[in-house]
Amino acid sequence: MKRLVGILFAVLSFAFPALAGPYADVKVEKINDRVYALLGGIDVPNRQNGGYVNNVLVILGNKGVILVDAGSHKSVAEHIKRAIRALTPDPVTHVLITHHHPDHHLGLVAFPDAQVIASEFCARQIAEDGAGMVWRMERMTGLTLGDTAPVTPQTVIAQHARQAKTINGVTLELITPDTAHTDGDMMVWLPQDGVLATGDVMVHGVNPNIGDGNLKKWLAVLGSAGELPASTIMPGHGALMRPADVANFQELMASFYKTVAQVHKDGGEMSDVRKKLDLARWQKLSRFEELMGRNISTVWLEIETDSF
Ligand SMILES: [Zn+2]
Repeated sequence: MKRLVGILFAVLSFAFPALAGPYADVKVEKINDRVYALLGGIDVPNRQNGGYVNNVLVILGNKGVILVDAGSHKSVAEHIKRAIRALTPDPVTHVLITHHHPDHHLGLVAFPDAQVIASEFCARQIAEDGAGMVWRMERMTGLTLGDTAPVTPQTVIAQHARQAKTINGVTLELITPDTAHTDGDMMVWLPQDGVLATGDVMVHGVNPNIGDGNLKKWLAVLGSAGELPASTIMPGHGALMRPADVANFQELMASFYKTVAQVHKDGGEMSDVRKKLDLARWQKLSRFEELMGRNISTVWLEIETDSF
C-alpha cells in the first residue's frame, strides 16, 4: 500500500509540477501604527517550504505602501500580498530590494505598478543574471515558475552611499555600504520609527551565508549599523532583533573571523578551523550543514588573499 501511494504521488507530482504552496502562515509583527514586519521561514528555499523563506517590511505611507524585499517568486509574493491586504487596501507603490539573491526579489513580478529601488550592483546582477536566478529558484523548490520573471530595478542607488528619501510621507535612509553579505547590499533605516531593515547583512537564528561576501568588511558594516539608534531590527531571515541581538550577532561573526585568522596565522590547515570553532553555537542555528563548510573556505580564502 505504501508503495502504491508512493507511485501515485510520483505520478501526480509529475502531472502537476507547478503547484506551489500551501505556504506557512505569514507571521505579522506590528512594530508601530505604520510599520509591520511579515516574517517567513528560516530555511533555504526548498520543496517543503515552496520557497517561502522571506522577511518583508511593510511601511504604510500616506499615498501607498512601501515594501522592503518582495519574496522568492510570484506565488510567494501573492501569499505575502494577502497579508498586506489584511493591513491596508492601499496599493504597493514602492519596493526596496536589499540585495540580488533571488529569494529577495523574484516576487517583484507580483507588484507590476511599483517603483523598484536597489543598489547599483544589485540592479546590474538582476539585469545580467535574472533568468539564471529563476532557473536556480526552480531547481531549489522543484517548481516550474513560468509566471515568474526577473524585474530590473528602475531606480538605482550608488554604492557606498547614504541617501535620504521621502516616499509617501515617510522618511527613509537608504544605506549602501561597502561589501558585507554581497557587494551590493542596501539597508533601509527609518529614523522616525527607529526601525532598521538589514537584508541579509543580519540574520537571526540562521547561519549567515558568507559565500558572496567579505567577512572583514562585513564586520565593519555591522559596526556602523550597530551605531544607528534602532530599537527594532528586521533581519533578512529570522525573528525581529533588538540591539542586544545585534551585539550578539556581531560578536558571533567576529569570533568566526578571529578563529579562522588564528588558525591561518598558526600555520594550520583549513580543516583545523572546525576543531577550533565553538561549533555548538553555530549548530543551534538553521542551515548549519549547508553553509558551514562553504563559510569556512570563503573566509579562509579571504584571509589568504589579504595576507598575500
Ligand atoms: Zn542573501
